[in-house]
Amino acid sequence: MVRLMDIAAATRPLDWRPDFPAIPEGWAYLDSAATAQKPKPVIEAITKAYAETYATVHRGVYQRSADMTLAFEASRRRVASFINAARPEEIVFVRGATEGINLVAQSWGRDNLKPGDRVLLSALEHHSNIVPWQLAGAGVDVVPLTEDHCIDLDAMAAMIRPEHKLVALGHVSNVLGSKLDAKRAADIAHSVGAKLLLDGCQAVPRMPVDVQDLDCDFYVFSGHKLYGPTGIGVLWARYDLLDAMPPWQGGGAMIDRVTFAKTTYAPPPARFEPGTPHVVGVIGLHAAIDYVAALGLDAIAAHEAALVAEAREALRGLNSVRLFGPEDSAGIVSFAVEGVHPHDVGTILDEAQVAIRAGHHCAQPLMDYLGVDATARASFGVYNGRADIEALARGIERVTRIFG
Ligand code: PMP
Repeated sequence: MVRLMDIAAATRPLDWRPDFPAIPEGWAYLDSAATAQKPKPVIEAITKAYAETYATVHRGVYQRSADMTLAFEASRRRVASFINAARPEEIVFVRGATEGINLVAQSWGRDNLKPGDRVLLSALEHHSNIVPWQLAGAGVDVVPLTEDHCIDLDAMAAMIRPEHKLVALGHVSNVLGSKLDAKRAADIAHSVGAKLLLDGCQAVPRMPVDVQDLDCDFYVFSGHKLYGPTGIGVLWARYDLLDAMPPWQGGGAMIDRVTFAKTTYAPPPARFEPGTPHVVGVIGLHAAIDYVAALGLDAIAAHEAALVAEAREALRGLNSVRLFGPEDSAGIVSFAVEGVHPHDVGTILDEAQVAIRAGHHCAQPLMDYLGVDATARASFGVYNGRADIEALARGIERVTRIFG
């Protein structure tokens, strides 16, 4: 049931929506799990960085570059405080969650995954938390889901073995919105000496994240799902882990001393940031974090919980609709309309100015697990409100009329 307090929270996005110039009146953007729209402060920060303050970082002897370097490193400190990292050097800027997981798989994996070692994943993982482990040559085991489509931690506790050197799990599922009890997952992983990597792509925009409190070892997320720019993301790892990891890509900026005979490497995070970084992406990410932090992650979580409750209620009322995922999913509702392919659902909804995602959501093993080819997915952001859910429900009614 939707609580009165939640309904009050759900009306708040009406204040937040004008911050997003790319969402025209009457358009229900329900694809934030794919990528979030950008608020004005992020757009302004990016514009200013290119139009007024632009220069490279870490190399320039001139004032502009020194200033940009200060801004770049201030963003690293902001990310660190945002997820409560123990120190800014634990923040590695990457292209996105995909690159962050590949970095861990190739760098940490090279030293720590020996023949016979295995990695424990779950049935709901995104391809970017499956394929990198296969590329690293690890054997993979899969934790099943509970009946309400959460990662089954009782099953995980029963199946974990010392051969599992790493457990890599989605903090929030991009298809089902299921929230992981990350602290319990960390306890189970650590009980056999395994490290825990959390894919925080869908969690960081939706709930407060404190990496020390979660007791995980690696955490990754993408800026573009956090209302920031594309092409920038974060890998966090405990400093001792990062410090022991070899570089995975070579180039400028990641070295200590280069000769043709031998190269020594910079300490983290520079060791893992070869080449000219995405300077403006890093600046934009800082603005995005300031934006969501000012709204408050607790307020965002309450707002999205209310939207999920309303959406599930509205869709449940349409008897041709099957809902996936738990009742308390975080900002994401996957569904199927009986007898209609999700792509057709998405196309007809688009005609009604409702943008949802249809497909396998880069989680083909999860589709197999659920016994479907694809799902339709509505996902929420701070700019959504009840009108968007009403438009979704009306659109699905139209789908069922069209398909009889
Ligand atoms: N993990 C999850 C749970 C995701 O939702 C996504 C993006 N759909 C990714 C990883 C990959 O993120 P990116 O494409 O930004 O690297």
